[in-house]
Amino acid sequence: MASFLFETHVMGAGPTGCMTALALAQLNQRVVVFDPQASDALTARSRAYAITHSSRRLMQRLGLWDELLNDLVAFEQLDLRDLAAGRQVLFLADDLALKNRGHSGIGWILDHRPLMTVLLRRLQDSPHVHLHLGGSAAPIPSLDSLVIAADGPSSPTRESWGIHCWQHRYRQGCLTAKVILRGVQANQACELFRPEGPLAVLPLGNDQFQVVWSAPMQRCQDRSALPPSEFLDQLAGILPQGIDPDLLLDQPRAFPQQWMLARRLSRGRGVLVGEAGHRCHPVGGQGLNLCWRDVDVLVTSVQKGGSAKRIAARYGRQRWIDLILVGAATDLLVRFFSNKNSLLVGLRQIALQLLKSSHRLRQLSLRAMTDGPMRIARALPD
Ligand SMILES: Cc1cc2nc3c(=O)[nH]c(=O)nc-3n(C[C@H](O)[C@H](O)[C@H](O)COP(=O)(O)OP(=O)(O)OC[C@H]3O[C@@H](n4cnc5c(N)ncnc54)[C@H](O)[C@@H]3O)c2cc1C
Repeated sequence: MASFLFETHVMGAGPTGCMTALALAQLNQRVVVFDPQASDALTARSRAYAITHSSRRLMQRLGLWDELLNDLVAFEQLDLRDLAAGRQVLFLADDLALKNRGHSGIGWILDHRPLMTVLLRRLQDSPHVHLHLGGSAAPIPSLDSLVIAADGPSSPTRESWGIHCWQHRYRQGCLTAKVILRGVQANQACELFRPEGPLAVLPLGNDQFQVVWSAPMQRCQDRSALPPSEFLDQLAGILPQGIDPDLLLDQPRAFPQQWMLARRLSRGRGVLVGEAGHRCHPVGGQGLNLCWRDVDVLVTSVQKGGSAKRIAARYGRQRWIDLILVGAATDLLVRFFSNKNSLLVGLRQIALQLLKSSHRLRQLSLRAMTDGPMRIARALPD
């Protein structure tokens, strides 16, 4: 294994920055982490992430999986419905050929709070990590440091490096809320395609679910301001028959949605990871998994050795295909399914019927979702 002479600066202690710092610290690399938010604010976000197998493997390598096992809610079924086309496809864990591998889920749902609590504690305990949280000024990196921008979609570091982005702002926004639902199995996630946008229902355990509800932005904002009973009535009105919302558990929040890709992912000794480099629509729950595949590739590049500049350039080259394919796939899904166009509805009926009747097609779709479109031809590694 290569030996490291330089220090690494991670700008941003969100889920991507923390994961990067932890992975590098495990290589005995000295890591400085800076975030203007204090640890309480960093853990406070009300959000749940869909975790795929690519993220599961990274968490296992970093020893996080067992520690978070009680907080990971596995879903063994994914119920996909197109309400305008009147079609339903049920994906099962068997479609991923997971039997006897000890991982029963198609994926898992993990709440932001336990994830960040464990990540920040592990970073605090590491002798290789220097955490600077809640301050106003970042420590100055030395001239040979690798600088990792993990400071989110509006990344001030990316701006300061003069890296521009390609971007497309969706007309759709999305609203997130935690609710208690009746009529959904605790081990089931749902993706409902509706003409106004997709609606994901993600299990959090104990009848609690996170809904990620896409619709025109103004409608999301209006819904987020509704009194709880009216919000639940509106949600009840669009959920399939037999699924009933009982209680709203947090304040619904509306977010704009965009596809964004930085025009370059490295500059000199600097790299962009996570949402500092890319964003995609939340359909299919790809966001954080894509960010963590950045971490995986960056750490492999560090292990291969060389100067900070060489490591950065190698990382920058290797991430393109996955980012472009996932961005294109999520964009296509949203455009194809969010309408009532009779030609497209007909095509969707055919496509979903094929998916329903073919185990192989379901397997390829799940592999693309869980490991990225580049790896659909390969069996899922352990
Ligand atoms: C509504 C919604 C639902 C989503 N659902 C899912 C899902 O189901 N599954 C999934 O995988 N993903 C989902 N995502 C995407 C997911 O939230 C993001 O992919 C994830 O938060 C990206 O993490 P990050 O660490 O890259 O960025 P962030 O979480 O944005 O963290 C960036 C950090 O940088 C810090 N920072 C800001 N400025 C500076 C600075 N100048 N210097 C240093 N630090 C700075 C910030 O304080 C912050 O802590 C969703 C996103 C949205 C909006």
